[in-house]
Amino acid sequence: MLLYNSATRKREEFIPREEGKVTMYTCGPTVYHFAHIGNLRTYTMEDVLERYLGYIGNKVTRVMNITDVGHLSSDGDTGEDKMLKGAKREHKTVLEIAKFYTDAFFADCDKLHIKRPEFIEPATNCIPEFIAMIETLLAKGYAYEAGGNIYFDTSKLERYYIFNDFKEEDLEVGVRESVEADHNKKNKADFVLWFTKSKFDDQELKWESPWGLGYPGWHIECSCIASKFVGEYLDIHCGGIDNAFPHHTNEIAQSEATFGHEWCKYWFHVHHLNTNSGKMSKSKGEFLTVSLLEEKGYDPLVYRFFCMQSHYRKNLVFSWENLDNAKIAYNKLVGRVAELKANDGEIDEAAFAEGKKRFTDALDNDLNTSLAVTALYDVFKLRTNDRTKLALIESFETVLDLGLIAAAARLNEEKAKQAAEENAGVDPELLAYIQERIEARKAAKKAKNFAEADAIRDELLAKGITLLDTREGTKFTINEA
Ligand code: AMP
Ligand code: ZN
Repeated sequence: MLLYNSATRKREEFIPREEGKVTMYTCGPTVYHFAHIGNLRTYTMEDVLERYLGYIGNKVTRVMNITDVGHLSSDGDTGEDKMLKGAKREHKTVLEIAKFYTDAFFADCDKLHIKRPEFIEPATNCIPEFIAMIETLLAKGYAYEAGGNIYFDTSKLERYYIFNDFKEEDLEVGVRESVEADHNKKNKADFVLWFTKSKFDDQELKWESPWGLGYPGWHIECSCIASKFVGEYLDIHCGGIDNAFPHHTNEIAQSEATFGHEWCKYWFHVHHLNTNSGKMSKSKGEFLTVSLLEEKGYDPLVYRFFCMQSHYRKNLVFSWENLDNAKIAYNKLVGRVAELKANDGEIDEAAFAEGKKRFTDALDNDLNTSLAVTALYDVFKLRTNDRTKLALIESFETVLDLGLIAAAARLNEEKAKQAAEENAGVDPELLAYIQERIEARKAAKKAKNFAEADAIRDELLAKGITLLDTREGTKFTINEA
């Protein structure tokens, strides 16, 4: 599989360290508010990546953190603590806020068919691990104490700017919401590993440490949580593109300084979901949630489908009109799946392989989900039986998980219920006969045997039964004698 690697800025063959086994890390949500559908775009695309790595034969071990401490309103250690901000807003404790929004996050994930990673770990569960890593960094000379806080010394690294050719001035990006410059830092890019002296006197969660009562910086959690579950090496690390700098850059700095070797080879970054007024962000306060989509009558899986239709490395513009178009396309797709008959023949291996190849070609090409959706549409065009088509769709759905099979079954149930209501009062034996003839006519038409199809229509007409072809299928009326 070819994947774009942000660390090398090239598309590369993805080769895990151990054949058939992949270790994958995902930066989890900061649980001070609901996840917005931009955050969930990132998790949706990461979910497809995880499933696809499994589909092509890997055992994937995936770890995700839950940020419930240390993430300040600028990613560069300045501004207010996000969790505290959430707690103040809702007059609750930080732990109450964390619990509520963690549950809300996973409820949204369930609705979007985002699988839960094998290991999920809140940052507040790992304080001893953070302290141990910071002690190692201090012992190795990569960290220093200043003004009561512990900082990572970026000047000790040969290469700090992994993802981009940043210049010192570009660092303003990381501190744009800064209220005051931190004069304790030896270098502008240095970052906090452990806060003791801080301007947040009302900081709720504090722990004892060798440097006094305090709390961890944001970046340390991902390095520690990853190694807690999968050891010193990671195959692939994921996140939204805004995480690349400074968060992922700092994760690499700490991990490689601690372990003394390359930590993670592949970096997968999902680009942003934007609205016409710019990037969707929690801190702006105005954002769209899965619940809002539901209130407006959209199945959350329509949003998943909307995400699949574009490439993860392109910004995606959200508008209600675009979502409506996805909804129409999704419903049509469900309608077409509902038409397929599961008992129509045996699986045709050659056609199955042909259909599957289109799908894997698409996803092997830097996870091109929009081409994978095209491969899904192509299934209907294959010259093969319904059984094979359904088997292909079921197979693709283990990766895309758009809920097509279940939605098609529901549609067929509704149709059957409606037909039963319409046909109430018709003699069951006569009904069975008419239905069998309608199916035979449909098959004749499909085989382009129109003479046979017309003959069936005439046969029924002679018995006083008129067929009527509608968008919902063929219906009939029984003429009064
Ligand atoms: P947060 O909860 O703010 O830590 O963000 C959770 C994830 O969502 C991170 O991987 C972010 O990079 C990602 N993210 C944030 N904003 C957006 C956006 N507008 N579109 C896509 N992903 C985003
Ligand atoms: Zn992280």
